[in-house]
Amino acid sequence: MAAAVQVRLHQASFSERALDAYRTHCAMCRLKHRELLDAAHIIPDSDPDGHPEVSNGLSLCKIHHAAFDRAIIGIRPDYVIEVREDVLREEDGPMLKYGLQALHNSELFLPSRTADRPSKDALERRYQSFLR
Ligand SMILES: [Zn+2]
Repeated sequence: MAAAVQVRLHQASFSERALDAYRTHCAMCRLKHRELLDAAHIIPDSDPDGHPEVSNGLSLCKIHHAAFDRAIIGIRPDYVIEVREDVLREEDGPMLKYGLQALHNSELFLPSRTADRPSKDALERRYQSFLR
């Protein structure tokens, strides 16, 4: 009884819904380890338009979440990933080469449900700040 009530009251969090929509993959590198994945906001939750909806979210691994938040990686509204120019020119070890630079011009891994896919308006806004 108590367990049933709990299940009924339980509302999946933004994070659970976002990770489920991406079938527990990083949208950039497809990494499939839930313990290394975060739900990232496209429009930050500090912004009045930063709603906790799957279409304003991305399932990203820790490194790609941080790289997206720090504008090292941007996503065009047509779902193509771009890596910042100065980072593309750097030389370093395998994480830089395979983890970041190799993503340049690749396509985002998307949820199968159209309604769960990233909002193009949100991506456009975020991409404009990436370009600055
Ligand atoms: Zn990743």
